[in-house]
Amino acid sequence: MDALTFGSHRLVHLDLKGAPPRVCYFEKLFPLLRTWGATGLLLEWEDTFPYNRELSQIGSNGLSSLSSGYTVQEARHILQIAGDCGLAVVPLVQTFGHMEFVLKHDEWRSLREVEHFPSSICPSNPRTLPLVKSLIRQIVSFHPDVQYLHIGADEVWHLGLCSVCTKRAASSKYGKPSLYLEHVLAIAQYIQETYPYLKIIIWDDMLRSIDLQVLNEHYIGKYVEPMIWHYNPRDNFVLPHELWDKYTTVFPHIWAATAFKGATGSSQHVPIVRHHISNHEKWLEELSVHVNKVHEFRGTAFTGWSRISTWMNPWQVANNYTNPMQLENLVPAFTELLLELSSLEGYLRFQMESIFFSSMIDEWIGTNIQPMKGKLMELKQTTENQIKLNSRV
Ligand SMILES: [Zn+2]
Repeated sequence: MDALTFGSHRLVHLDLKGAPPRVCYFEKLFPLLRTWGATGLLLEWEDTFPYNRELSQIGSNGLSSLSSGYTVQEARHILQIAGDCGLAVVPLVQTFGHMEFVLKHDEWRSLREVEHFPSSICPSNPRTLPLVKSLIRQIVSFHPDVQYLHIGADEVWHLGLCSVCTKRAASSKYGKPSLYLEHVLAIAQYIQETYPYLKIIIWDDMLRSIDLQVLNEHYIGKYVEPMIWHYNPRDNFVLPHELWDKYTTVFPHIWAATAFKGATGSSQHVPIVRHHISNHEKWLEELSVHVNKVHEFRGTAFTGWSRISTWMNPWQVANNYTNPMQLENLVPAFTELLLELSSLEGYLRFQMESIFFSSMIDEWIGTNIQPMKGKLMELKQTTENQIKLNSRV
């Protein structure tokens, strides 16, 4: 495979949320990455960045007992090590979906698209764009010589749902896709005006279902470069072929993103190597077939996901550190399991009564069915309590 197929950039994604490594770890890691062929880092600071002034609560300067992250000196040192190793840094700051690190705080809670869910920000709220601009300003000014900025914008799970957005979507020619594109364009135009030298990258998933004509009418291709992400192994790799035709018509510059860890489950402790190798092998095939259609294929980001939106384990429950959006799916599942167990209990009692004395049946049910029911009821109660607390992420 030649250089054209690979593109000129090979970025390694550092997902720092959840468990940021100490700086001394990067001193060892970055030279290795360079030796292995990386050209840069896709650096997702999230809440480990030392945001200041109006944003100080969000990052490592915040007061949260759970906050961890880097001081200004440490963050600068990380950039310094990257620079010394010849690694270009592409910062990634979320601006639409995956805004949990901002929207979990009371100060910005009113910017949620759906009150109970901290993931998506409302693009119609007049306070949203100023907040996003502040995030971008602080990130860009901290990174010298930055050429690209990744503004995320993936997995906007809640879009067009608040009363204002519902009306906007209803009166827009293209409904929710227009809401999405208009927000991304507002951010992109701000970046282009303020930092004309910056090229803007977004994740592509929200664009996949938007028609070619709609993308073109919004001139989105003039402003952003999509990064097509797909993290599944060969058996489950499903990027539609027409996607490449659509994107290459709209966007002159395109990126790809694989996954070297994470993206395989919410409680994965060790990467499933076979999964990730298969993902990369399939991507090589995918690129060899399609990349020649792209005006300029920029390159690949090798993503490594550290933490999926928090689910529910004993530590997270003890610290009210759960995501209501994930938990809402659990309650009906627990309810259904409890109903099934109760009907199984009834069936067993009926069948056993023709053979055994009732005291023996009570013992059997008490030993084999009741503990399971008790555990399920406890889990259901815990889940409902966590949703009520509507806590952090
Ligand atoms: Zn809204």
